[in-house]
Amino acid sequence: MVSAEGKKTQLKRLQQQRSSLVKRMIKASDNRLKAEDRSKAKTKKKSNSDEPKVIERPQGSSAMFFQYNTQLGPPYHVLVDTNFVNFSIKNKLDIIKTMMDCLYAKCIPYITDCVEAELEKLGSKFKLALRIIKDPRFERLHCMHKGTYADDCLVQRVSQHKCYIVATNDKDLKRRIRKIPGVPIMNVALNRYVIERMPDAFEPIAKK
Ligand SMILES: [Zn+2]
Repeated sequence: MVSAEGKKTQLKRLQQQRSSLVKRMIKASDNRLKAEDRSKAKTKKKSNSDEPKVIERPQGSSAMFFQYNTQLGPPYHVLVDTNFVNFSIKNKLDIIKTMMDCLYAKCIPYITDCVEAELEKLGSKFKLALRIIKDPRFERLHCMHKGTYADDCLVQRVSQHKCYIVATNDKDLKRRIRKIPGVPIMNVALNRYVIERMPDAFEPIAKK
């Protein structure tokens, strides 16, 4: 058993250890300090507190009500990606009709300059795709950027304007879009389109 005396000395030793660990600081007004060091210490402290802290964050969209995008609604504006057009042709789907079947509302597909340029680059095999997107029901969006890389263009558009749905089958693009709140994604399934992240979306019930 440890006696009361023993406990006391133990406590004292602990306190001594602790105080030796604490870094001692002297005040700026201490007379051991030279005048020049004193002023340095003072100005450093002042400049820190005067400057406002600037934290840069991307501004949230005013169209968002928490996670709910208030700008979405019929008619739906759908940004169509290059591979979405190609997959639709492969599955023999009429783009506008299948979109309306998916969302039960009017849909306006949008083609950007860079998506058209990508399709043109793919060559003569994709002539049909080019003919389809030249349909007057497809709206055109003009690009201000250089190059023909559509992914960056689409990501930028949907982060600026929350009124779009992105139609794509590209895995990387889908992953990038999912990081932006309030942007639904449409992709080609076997014989229909599937929408993801749509508020109030309901999957068409399989026919019995
Ligand atoms: Zn573009």
